[in-house]
Amino acid sequence: KIKVRFAPSPTGNLHVGGARTALFNWLYARKVGGKFVLRIEDTDTARSTRESEEKMKADLAWLGLNWDEGPDVGGPNGPYRQSERAEIYKSYVDKLVAAGHAYPCFCTDAELEAMKAEAEAKKLPPIYRGKWSSASKEEVEAEMAKGTPYCYRFRVPANKEIGINDIVRGQVTWNTDNLGDFVVLRSNGLPVYNFCVAIDDALMGISHVLRAEEHLPNTLRQLLVYEALGFTPPVFGHMSLILAPDKSKLSKRHGATSVGDFKQQGYLAPAMVNYLSLLGWNDGTEKEIYTVDELTQAFDLQRITKSAAVFDKVKLSWMNGQHLRALPEEELLALPEEELLSRIADALVAGGVLADASSAFAAAMASLVKGSVDMLGDAAAQVPALLGYPLAETVQSEEFKPIQEDNFLEVAAAVLAAHDSGDLAAAVAGGHDTFKKWINGVGKAQKRKGKRLFMPMRVALTGRMQGPDVGELLGALAQESGSDVVDRSSL
Ligand code: GLU
Repeated sequence: KIKVRFAPSPTGNLHVGGARTALFNWLYARKVGGKFVLRIEDTDTARSTRESEEKMKADLAWLGLNWDEGPDVGGPNGPYRQSERAEIYKSYVDKLVAAGHAYPCFCTDAELEAMKAEAEAKKLPPIYRGKWSSASKEEVEAEMAKGTPYCYRFRVPANKEIGINDIVRGQVTWNTDNLGDFVVLRSNGLPVYNFCVAIDDALMGISHVLRAEEHLPNTLRQLLVYEALGFTPPVFGHMSLILAPDKSKLSKRHGATSVGDFKQQGYLAPAMVNYLSLLGWNDGTEKEIYTVDELTQAFDLQRITKSAAVFDKVKLSWMNGQHLRALPEEELLALPEEELLSRIADALVAGGVLADASSAFAAAMASLVKGSVDMLGDAAAQVPALLGYPLAETVQSEEFKPIQEDNFLEVAAAVLAAHDSGDLAAAVAGGHDTFKKWINGVGKAQKRKGKRLFMPMRVALTGRMQGPDVGELLGALAQESGSDVVDRSSL
């Protein structure tokens, strides 16, 4: 029976690394018809928050990575929050002690420090070499009677080779001599990560542990706990790091790295899933664009790559565009307004007509081109036209003649006067209604209305006879600092 888990520590946001781990586990479960468990590893009470847990769950849900067992949904091996499993851990500490695999240790911090310094002086690894491991029952009882604080340590067997056949990394072997007797339960009663994980994975029936490479060194301790308690270890797979394009460790300074950020920036969840799936996995072909269903079909643990993956936002944006373009128009238009606008803004950046997708100007331009049919495909192509002021061409066209003959210059002069006095800018800044009022004012002064007013006005203000709503266009242009509304050089 295949059962995998994602076991985040709720100490912050769900980052792309964690999301990739969750995704690979989920894909594997869905592919083979197994179970996907969500376990919240909140034993670090100082850093864990419920808020972070909720946010992570929301991000997983947004990605579509639903869990079969876990908080909120329950399951046969709960509770699924480590903070609610204290009694379980304590009972297994007792079992370890009863079988001689763990013992109470009364060493003070000062003693531990001294031991460390001594080991260092002798050029030995700074590990605990069990002062209390061979204490007699009487010595232990005497210390307990005194009320000396104590933790429980795991008794690591001497000079033993222990290994795993890792799905990703192949054979990995450790010698237990490099490991000191490690703490399983702290003196404050809190259990230690490596101990909880082994207990939980065993009790929850986890068949495969797929997690980040950084957890590889922890595996030895976990294997020892398994062995001591007679549990069969799961199959392990440790996935390689995710690096930034400059090959350094991906971090905040590379910009957005949390799923929540990408969600907010308007990326589509299926595109995000598609992109994450290729961070350390491929199906052996050149195929890059997958739907979630295609991924669950194609996913194969044996094809997880050993080399580090590079998180490249440019590639992610490109992939997002591919997914967007594949969306039927109804679905595209059904996207929340904000998501749609930010998708268009991204397309404008991708198309090279805008530098920054997050600027107010980008948002305004996105809103302007939104109405056109195949918006993402041709969004970028529309922008240069919107930014230009092709009055010279317009006045030479046949269609302009009647407008010209109807005293176009009078309207243009009114526009210029309003521009110079600041009235135009104020009207634009005031939004739709204010701008309309202003136009009506000009109409009254010019004794014009309807098309006789709007057409020359449009031409004077935008240099062209067609286009989006003039007020909206001018508003967008005004967002770009330094941009002048009316280009009088061609008047
Ligand atoms: N709670 C650990 C983390 O957030 C994961 C432990 C594991 O996957 O074994 O990194």
